[in-house]
Amino acid sequence: MHLISDLDGTWLHPRSAPSSLRRLEAHLAATPDITLTFATGRTLASALGVLEGRIQRWPNHLITDVGTAIYHRTIQGDWDEDQDYADWVRKRWDSDFLELMANRWIPEGVQRQEGITPLRRIALEVLPGRNIKLLSEHLRKNLEEAGARVDVLVTGRCIDILPNGLHKGTAAAFLHSSLHLSAPIVACGDSENDLGLFSIADAVVLMPDGAIWTSSKRHQVRNAFVPTKSGPVGILQAIQSPVLTYSRLT
Ligand SMILES: [Mg+2]
Repeated sequence: MHLISDLDGTWLHPRSAPSSLRRLEAHLAATPDITLTFATGRTLASALGVLEGRIQRWPNHLITDVGTAIYHRTIQGDWDEDQDYADWVRKRWDSDFLELMANRWIPEGVQRQEGITPLRRIALEVLPGRNIKLLSEHLRKNLEEAGARVDVLVTGRCIDILPNGLHKGTAAAFLHSSLHLSAPIVACGDSENDLGLFSIADAVVLMPDGAIWTSSKRHQVRNAFVPTKSGPVGILQAIQSPVLTYSRLT
């Protein structure tokens, strides 16, 4: 099994006790043929910051920045960026043009996320009290009129401008194929930025309290396994369940 999990609200769940993560990690330790990958909207530095001290089992691979970067864990415990994937994404992201023009396209009420260095994407957030739906549509229209071939992804109060057609699933599929893995992909997530990941998975584990349940894109999730509890307890329930094997996407 290639287990690919989102971090916030999934592997790292705010109401989950550390002991439940230890049980999931113990299962992974006893099942060495599971390849573990985390797929997050965070940057590498931000992901490592939130993982340090909370997890004992590090993943084999990390997909960051909503799928615009892949990192491999070395034997020494360092992280090497996948340069083939980075080159492939770079060809789809006209950084100079987009960064230069972005400030003209970003509507009032939206600002860049502070304190992070996003890779091959533009990370924005909507100011409190402002209508994210209207502002993201406004942004989308500005980008379309400018002829920018990009995607606009809304997750909570965050908006990401991404290379056209790129998402967590693009990176996951690239990684899976470059590792020559034949094991099925089991994807775990909770929100809209996991939809791309779900689209390439053999089985989907959807958190029962995920933001996706109130999203207009809810219908895009098909045949998901929904555990009775969220976080590591739910993930463990799912990967041990015999029913999971019957929930493959068609
Ligand atoms: Mg999440």
